[in-house]
Amino acid sequence: MTNNNDKKKILIVEDEEGLLDGLAHNFRYEGYEVLTAKTGQEGLRMALKQKPDAVLLDIMLPEKDGFTVLKELRQRHREIPVLVMTARNFEADVLKGFDLGADDYVTKPFSPKELAARVKRLVARGPMNTGAPPTTTYSFGDVEVRFEPREVYKTAKQVALSFKEFELLKYLIEHRGRTVSREELLEEIWGVDEELGVTTRTVDTHVSNLRSKLGDGFEKPFIVAVHKVGYKFVEP
Ligand code: CA
Repeated sequence: MTNNNDKKKILIVEDEEGLLDGLAHNFRYEGYEVLTAKTGQEGLRMALKQKPDAVLLDIMLPEKDGFTVLKELRQRHREIPVLVMTARNFEADVLKGFDLGADDYVTKPFSPKELAARVKRLVARGPMNTGAPPTTTYSFGDVEVRFEPREVYKTAKQVALSFKEFELLKYLIEHRGRTVSREELLEEIWGVDEELGVTTRTVDTHVSNLRSKLGDGFEKPFIVAVHKVGYKFVEP
């Protein structure tokens, strides 16, 4: 039995309105649920929020170019397949796209049939398999984090964390070495991108709870505050 929920969802980011409409129409006809964005900023926001099965990404875009969108998307969701649409037939652009984590590309002008076949392949393949087994535990200093069944130990004693505290710790660990903004944490952990009673102060409070519960010291903290931006997890 099939229903609408089985529809594959793709996001097309393209600023040329005629092309965007044409592509959206074609893919809807092919049975996809189609989301569209006309700027890089909007495209990135939609990709992060809607988590489509594939993204068709133009490179020359207003606000944020396709390379930047791809880079920022990959920092947060490695797994969404991305096909880059480049107007310029420069090998360097294609290589740069692959370096930043693109999965496939087409050069404009492309045939709709070819594009449809490529997208079909990408969507069928599903999330990128990184080859690495999923992390089940992570240790730093005298702390051990067990992702399943969501337990944290300090010097072999269990520490009680709230649901959000655990999610926050997990997210910081998964993105260790990179500065994560408060806005990103609000979106990823609390699922809000606007103030709905939850503010960036909520993030600070949770971080400070984590620090005191896990004994994060001032000498060599593992959750480092990055001035005016957010936080970064560094292995002590
Ligand atoms: Ca363009």
